[in-house]
Amino acid sequence: MKNILILAGDGIGPEVMREACRIIDWFGAHRGLEVNLEHDLVGGAAYDVHQCAISDAAMEKALAADIVMLGAVGGAKWDNVDYAARPEAGLLRLRSDLELFANLRPAICFPALAQASSLKREIVEGLDIMIVRELTGGIYFGEPRGIEDLGGGQRRGLNTQVYETYEIERIARVAADLAMARGKKLASSEKRNVMESGQLWYEEVERVISTDYPELELSHVLADNCAMQLVRNPKQYDVLVTDNLFGDILSDIAAQLTGSLGMLPSASLGAVDKISGKRRALYEPVHGSAPDIVGQNAANPLATILSFAMALRYSFARSADADLLEAAVARVLDKGLRTADIAPASAPSSDLLGTDAMGDAVLAALVEEAGL
Ligand code: NAD
Repeated sequence: MKNILILAGDGIGPEVMREACRIIDWFGAHRGLEVNLEHDLVGGAAYDVHQCAISDAAMEKALAADIVMLGAVGGAKWDNVDYAARPEAGLLRLRSDLELFANLRPAICFPALAQASSLKREIVEGLDIMIVRELTGGIYFGEPRGIEDLGGGQRRGLNTQVYETYEIERIARVAADLAMARGKKLASSEKRNVMESGQLWYEEVERVISTDYPELELSHVLADNCAMQLVRNPKQYDVLVTDNLFGDILSDIAAQLTGSLGMLPSASLGAVDKISGKRRALYEPVHGSAPDIVGQNAANPLATILSFAMALRYSFARSADADLLEAAVARVLDKGLRTADIAPASAPSSDLLGTDAMGDAVLAALVEEAGL
């Protein structure tokens, strides 16, 4: 039995999560996936009830669950709330308490959506890369940090890029394990030409891979060059591992290659628990709460549904089921079925699917793909 904590959150979060839950139920009914779904609040929804962005009780459930599925948090309603209780603080607490140090951001370009990319079809069609971003270290957390008053009208802003061996080693291992299960090709990105932390990153990744993953083809690419390569020839990469800052930027570049925010899933993985052997994990779409379309049945649920496919693959070791779900999504797109965000601007509104109809379409495609 797998325990899944559902934190639907704010805005379109509950709308897209509703469809993902129907998909989870389908796998329970047709593929023998035994799950127990629990629901709780996060973000503004939690603030309205508990005056904090996630309650201790919900955090306890998250720590005990096999995986957490999150919708989205945030909205103008909570703009004036203290930073510590803002919707985003719920996400940060989850990441930090679950020690989610590895952020997996696949950039997959479904052939049927290649025209939605800002790059030429032949450059992005069939793209399937996995960016692994270190999520809990580096310059976003390093000390010292702050803004100092130097007097005389001068101030100094300071952040510190810092990595230790264990942090680089564990993210390198997550990326290497992924690469071993894919094309056995790993690229690592830093800026060792100008940063000592980049030199350490390079040396530690090199050491881990040459010692424990001799079958992997490892390459190193400077982060600025990597940004360029991602728009020049993204298909040269399979798995790409990088630090928090560069990963933030490079994963957004890769995301843009694929078209819409409404299509992008993500996973954040933590350490393997020594007693249970489970790896903590949170799955969520990359997009936010999309206040501009909330309540209109217009949100694309595919990013959340594809996040569940990642959970099947990376937390439940059910890669055949993950393949099935991804194939069902591809089938829906091949049929030309579209929510507004992935439709050509010229598409008549009568041709567009709502959130619930897109859920229906994926369920129908699952039946077809599974030959039921
Ligand atoms: P957003 O991702 O919510 O929306 C950006 C644009 O993409 C909007 O036009 C929206 O309508 C569209 N969009 C997003 N997801 C879509 C989907 N599934 N289907 C169709 N269209 C979709 O980003 P934003 O507008 O910058 O932020 C809105 C709120 O979300 C803010 O409060 C922000 O802090 C929060 N946010 C939360 C997360 C998260 O929960 N992980 C991430 C980003 C932003």
